[in-house]
Amino acid sequence: MSQHRITQAIRKQVDRTNEMEHSSPLFLTSSFCFDNAEEMRAAFADENDDNIYSRFSNPNVQEFIDRVCILEGAEAGYATASGMSAVFASFMALLKQGDHLLSCSAIFGSTHTVITKYLPKYGIEHSYFQANKPETWESFIRPNTRMIYVETPTNPGLDIIDLEAISALAKKHNLILNVDNCFATPVTQQPVAFGADLVVHSATKWLDGQGRVLGGVVVGRKDLIREIYLFARSTGPALSPFNAWLLSRSLETLEVRMQRHASSAHFIARSLEGNPQINWVKYPFLPSHPQHEIAKKQMSDGGGLVCFELKGGVEAGRKFLNNLTILSLTANLGDTRSIASHPASTTHAKLTEEEQQTVGITPGLIRISVGLENRDDILGDILHSLTNL
Ligand SMILES: *Cc1c(COP(=O)(O)O)cnc(C)c1O
Repeated sequence: MSQHRITQAIRKQVDRTNEMEHSSPLFLTSSFCFDNAEEMRAAFADENDDNIYSRFSNPNVQEFIDRVCILEGAEAGYATASGMSAVFASFMALLKQGDHLLSCSAIFGSTHTVITKYLPKYGIEHSYFQANKPETWESFIRPNTRMIYVETPTNPGLDIIDLEAISALAKKHNLILNVDNCFATPVTQQPVAFGADLVVHSATKWLDGQGRVLGGVVVGRKDLIREIYLFARSTGPALSPFNAWLLSRSLETLEVRMQRHASSAHFIARSLEGNPQINWVKYPFLPSHPQHEIAKKQMSDGGGLVCFELKGGVEAGRKFLNNLTILSLTANLGDTRSIASHPASTTHAKLTEEEQQTVGITPGLIRISVGLENRDDILGDILHSLTNL
């Protein structure tokens, strides 16, 4: 009988040593030994999968990769020191001078910096399309387009991109579809099932889920991952075995955590709709979300993030943050502890008003990463903050 992917992911672990430990041991070692010269030669000649050096591979890192591959339904993967190094490696290994990258405009801030500031130094061009204007997507494709990059739900506006539609477009033009699945996690959405060639993650967020370590991972088609692996093993963004060990343990609770994050987020989104201090609430599983039907097609729940817009603009945003007593003010998301952020005065403050608009940021936009506290306490803190604006 074939097992559910959650069962497989939880049971997948490093081979037991002679100590017969139940939980995976930690392999804090930079290199690995060989019994003789012939074995060492064979490992260096790529004739087997023996570990050589932890910049290339490490048992804890491999366990984490294997588990993410099972959860995402992917063939292979490579894990990195942060989400950004996974994103960057996926670009650098697969794009070359003269190539064009097509990306949705609402993307993580540092990804935007990589695309607009660093890729051009290597002669890699880009265009941005709007997530909510699917009828325009194809018009951005050029003869030299090589990859489509998307985040869905988008950050921080929670727009939804139809993965089936964007994947059909990528197939039609023979392009690599690379999806940042950080916001949804494989519990909620599996882009590979809709045709994505690569899936990248900031493991720092929901995959760890406890705000402890940085990490990243890219999984997907074996031939593409091989290129990324060869790039990474020579350039050095390897994930630390200790972080991999923590992240791998975190994956054992990913499903139960995400189900609770999502049910609390849905409850909070529903409760805030119609609040007199708010213009609108956005949550993928609210029927009022503009792409609600697409969200229901490709996501099993609405995820753990909610956003809403305060009527009073930037000033109200600042006041809202100051009024909170439980929610944390911190530059992270996907934690056991709920977090509030106000992009217009913080993460996206350097953008012009026009740039803010293209990435879906309005002056009073608040993003809540809903934690595992009691949901009435989280809602109570938000409501108390709203009534005192
Ligand atoms: C945080 C984040 C990243 C970058 O990950 P780091 O682990 O911080 O390097 C990339 N994409 C999204 C959507 C993120 O939220």
